[in-house]
Amino acid sequence: MKKRIYFILATLTIIIIIISFFYNQQSLTKLVTQKAKETYENRLKEYNVLYDSKKTFLDAFAKFLTSSPIIIESYLENNRTKLISYIKPLYKNLHNSNIIEEIHFFKAPAISFVNFANLKQYNINVSKSRADILWVDTSFQPSTHYYVCRLYPGLRATYPIIYNGKILGSLSFGLNIKIFKKLFEKLGAQSVSIYLNNDILKKMLLPQKYKEYAKLPTYENYKVLGKVFKNIDLKPGFEVKNNYVFTKIKISDFFGHPMAYLVIKDDIKQSIATIKRILIEKTIIELLGFLVAFGIVFILFRWIFTKMEDINKILTLIKEQKFSQIPQKTTPKDELDIYKNNLIEVAQKIKTYLNILSEKVEEYSDKAYKDGLTEALNRRFLEEKANQLFTKYSLKKTKVGIVMLDIDNFKQINDNFGHDIGDLIITKLADTIKSIIRKEDFLIRYGGEEFLLILPNSSLQDTYKVAEKIRKAIENLEVKIGNKNLKFTISVGISELNSFDKTLFDAIKRADINLYKAKQNGKNRVEI
Ligand code: GH3
Ligand code: MG
Ligand code: MG
Repeated sequence: MKKRIYFILATLTIIIIIISFFYNQQSLTKLVTQKAKETYENRLKEYNVLYDSKKTFLDAFAKFLTSSPIIIESYLENNRTKLISYIKPLYKNLHNSNIIEEIHFFKAPAISFVNFANLKQYNINVSKSRADILWVDTSFQPSTHYYVCRLYPGLRATYPIIYNGKILGSLSFGLNIKIFKKLFEKLGAQSVSIYLNNDILKKMLLPQKYKEYAKLPTYENYKVLGKVFKNIDLKPGFEVKNNYVFTKIKISDFFGHPMAYLVIKDDIKQSIATIKRILIEKTIIELLGFLVAFGIVFILFRWIFTKMEDINKILTLIKEQKFSQIPQKTTPKDELDIYKNNLIEVAQKIKTYLNILSEKVEEYSDKAYKDGLTEALNRRFLEEKANQLFTKYSLKKTKVGIVMLDIDNFKQINDNFGHDIGDLIITKLADTIKSIIRKEDFLIRYGGEEFLLILPNSSLQDTYKVAEKIRKAIENLEVKIGNKNLKFTISVGISELNSFDKTLFDAIKRADINLYKAKQNGKNRVEI
């Protein structure tokens, strides 16, 4: 029971430790995923804000320029020089500060007019390489799209130049896609890479421009601007790898083709370490709490078991009737002490009852073996104990004397004085014998006025002396009856137990024969 309870407690502790370990492990995964998701969502938000702000800025700029009279004039006059001298300072400023990559004017439909990236090239039909220009020229609508053109991949904001309801051409601003790498690096990303679709690059870029991109490291079907992140699954969303979050933003071009992936790598080592620390602290506190609880339960059980053992000890002592070893009652400090005290009380009562009982048993067994009139032992005693005594004497080789005696002419006493006086005489005889024999001798009323004496450690001579002493004492005894003194005598036969005897009765029989002899030889005498 004790072991089983300790076993259950220990098992519970182990189960709880395992559960808390797995629960914390799960919590860690969840919290890390949540942290990664947060990081991803923030990056996505930042991207959208950046994209929108770029777009708004280009929108405003383009609207202003496309409605500028100098530009309209340059178009109407087909005057490239005018346009160049007007825009060039602005372009240089913006280009050198990396705000824009390109300002490109087109004449409808999709004929290059002034390209600030390459002023020498103009009047080239770009309808094949710039589908967005053709679309703006025909739809009269602005367009903001990612695009890989002949020179670089980037964001393009194109606006129609309209004069008197007629389309003159369009203006296109370009932002190199590289700008996003720089911006996110400034926003604290650990590393930013742009994965560019190789097929689109190859198809769209001028061969000499493509050469630059062909040199870049390859990942699947992509050319990578920046570091190649190994084993990244290129699809929108995020992934967590060794304490890093990879935010993957898909960038589609004007045609809706997957042109690039912007991949932002963020370090969340610090956050994971904090989460781990908090979880470990939590686990330690939980475990300590449980260990304390377990300790308390353990102490409580041990205390109960100790008390129970005390109680059990008392029960065992009661069972074995070792009442003297049962402890005393103590001042109770708890319920178990009360039980213990009650048990001690019960034990004391049992002890008292047993004492009373054994006294009674003694009393009754005494009575059972005693003759009512003389208080000498009775025939039943002899019959039940003869074998036991015989065995004991035989084993110890004890000399045992046997005396059989009988009142002479007792019938006459009865006849002359009545039965009651007869009884009195028998009593006087017994008393006289008792006063002569030793404690260890047995006086047995063998018949009505016939007694048997068993004298252990008595030789035949000793026995004779005792028999003679009794005979004389009776001879000299005077029993007062009214005014008269009554006298009587006894006849005695003696024998001793010998090695041929098979029972005590063999020796008794010899004594009885001698008693008969004494009667025959004149009574009031002892015969051997
Ligand atoms: P003897 O000398 O040969 O022994 O003669 P006796 O008269 O004593 O003969 P016996 O021993 O045979 O007789 C015993 C008598 O004792 C017979 C019986 O009436 C009487 N008696 C036996 N038991 C009691 C008793 O308990 N009380 C009284 N008063 N008399 C008893
Ligand atoms: Mg007789
Ligand atoms: Mg007689």
